[in-house]
This record gives sequence, structure tokens and C-alpha cells, in this order.
Amino acid sequence: MDAVVDLRSDTVTRPTAAMRRAMAEAEVGDDVYGEDPTVRALEERVAALLGKEAALFVPSGTMANQLAIRTHTEPGDAIVADARAHVLLYERAAPTAIAGVLPRTIESPRGIFGPEAVRACIPRPPASLPPGLFPPVRLLCLENTHNAGGGSVWPPARFAEVCREARRHGLAVHLDGARLWNAAVARGLPERTWAEHCDSVAVCFSKGLGAPVGSALVGDRAFVDRARRFRGMLGGAMRQAGILAAAALWALDHHRARLAEDHAHARRLAEGLAELPGVTIRPEAVETNILWFEVRPLTAGRFAELAEARGVRVLATGAHTVRCVTHLDVSRSDVERALRVFAAILRGT
Ligand SMILES: *Cc1c(COP(=O)(O)O)cnc(C)c1O
Repeated sequence: MDAVVDLRSDTVTRPTAAMRRAMAEAEVGDDVYGEDPTVRALEERVAALLGKEAALFVPSGTMANQLAIRTHTEPGDAIVADARAHVLLYERAAPTAIAGVLPRTIESPRGIFGPEAVRACIPRPPASLPPGLFPPVRLLCLENTHNAGGGSVWPPARFAEVCREARRHGLAVHLDGARLWNAAVARGLPERTWAEHCDSVAVCFSKGLGAPVGSALVGDRAFVDRARRFRGMLGGAMRQAGILAAAALWALDHHRARLAEDHAHARRLAEGLAELPGVTIRPEAVETNILWFEVRPLTAGRFAELAEARGVRVLATGAHTVRCVTHLDVSRSDVERALRVFAAILRGT
């Protein structure tokens, strides 16, 4: 029996032998005292890549995003994000529980919207109302690539326009760039193309880049200093974290350009799926390594069960909605194998 083809998420990758060697050989120190040279090297590298003054290494993308929200706001403020943003949908209500902010949401088909949507979230109370009724909106959170939006990439011009509109209303802008690496590779543009319009950016090393643990939050020095205090409060200050930072550095050097392969695999998967009975998918909408599709009359749960029994794992995310994500541990032949399994299930063979 071949190994399982795991398409549930790009978080399931395991560190390669070379990455483990880099981890084993990492120079380390106590990072709470600022003495871990490998963590420092990673923070400097990521800050430079994104064109910002400073970066902070953190255990997870969730922590990076939630530190950003807490750092940009005070309890009782409001933030704006699209209704299916990771920060609102998959981070355990942390914006309300930890930052104490009120989310105002934007409905959009693929997580991408225009400046008018931002404008509509800014309260314009009539003069007849007493002052200060509405919480001040302080922050716009954007996501690129957009996970629930199907791995969609923000068109750079639109992104810049939306950020400009946010600033016009006095909002800071945070980018959840867990997969900003994928956006950059998909468009053949540097990560800064998007980062330069933002006050802060969160990036993940443990998604398609294949590191076992870790994310970074970048911004200007004062922002990162304040975020460091909140990181400590949440228990995210780590000691000899250079072992983990070494994996992230290795991933940046060796696994970034190859994300293009994941994108080609996702497109191939989508094209194969589009030919199967009962599947609804638009292959041309698959821009990066994530694809969502609908399956009928089977439920997504049953489809996932049948696929698992044949050695392919997918994520059932709704009654009939399935998500697949390609990554470092999925080869072209794994994609073909997955398509044969899907065909067997849907054609009942
Ligand atoms: C995975 C992900 C995160 C962070 O997730 P963690 O599991 O906490 O590392 C943030 N945003 C997006 C869009 C993601 O896909």
C-alpha cells in the first residue's frame, strides 16, 4: 500500500531530512534575553524581505494575527475584516476574547473587495445622535492569499486602493499573509508588493514552506516592541527557539520558489475534478495551492470517508463542500492517484 496522500492542508508537511539537519546544527541562546542568534537572523531576514523595520518570531499564525489586532487597538475599538477572514472564522473568537474588539464584516465572494466596502464599515452617525455611541474603527485586516476565498490572490492595484481608503479613515492595515509566499510566486512579484501598503504583516513558515512550527509578525520598531509585550503575556516568548527558526530559514531558502509546483498541482487537480460527475468547481479560479469544490449527491463527509478508505485524505468543510490543498509532500503522481480515487468514488467503480 502506498503512503497516504494527505490533501487536507499544507500544514501536514513534515520537516525534510535536510531541514532537520539545519535544526540540529542551529546556534541557539535564550531568545527572551535576545540571545538566540538564529531567531535574530530569521527576524532580520523576514523584516528585510517584507520591507519593514522589525519582525517577531511567534509559535503560530494565529498568535501573529491576534498580536497584531491587540497591538493596533484598545479594548472597545472596532476592526474591519471580510466575513470569512481567518482572523474571524478560525481563531477561536480571539479578537473579542483577547483584544476585546468588535468585528465589522464585509461580504465578498473571494475575500476580495473594493474601497467602497471599507467606506461602508465606517460609522457616520447623524448629528441627532449623542456623540461617541459607536466604537472607533481602528484597523482593517486583509488576507492574501485568501484561504476561504479559494486561495485567491489580491490584485495589487486593488489591494493598494483598499489600503489607501483605510488610511483615509484613520485605520491601520494588517495583512494576514499566512500564504503571502504563494501570492508572490503566483504573480511573480515580491512579497513587498502587498506588504508596502500595510502597517503589519503576519507570515507562516509552517504552511506550504514546510517548517514544523512558526510564524512571524512584522512592522515598524515601535509596533514590534509593543507586540513583544503582548507575546509575553500570551506565553509566546520562547527560549532556545533557534531550533525552530533554523527550520524557517531553511524553508525560506529552499522551499519558496517550488511553491509554483504546488500551484500547478492544484490546477491539475481542479481540472481533473471538473470532469467528474457530481463535482462543481471552476478550475480557472484556482490561482494557488487551495481548491474548494462541491460534491453531490454524496455529502462531503461521506466523500472524505470513501477517499480515506482508498488512501487519500481531503477536508470536508460543509455539508457538500470539500477543501484540498497541495504542498511539499504531494507529488504530481500523488495528484494523479488522488484523481483516480475521486473518479472511482464518483463513478461508483
Ligand atoms: C493557517 C492560517 C493562519 C494561522 O494558522 P495557525 O494554525 O495558527 O498557524 C492564519 N491565516 C490563514 C489565512 C491561515 O490559513
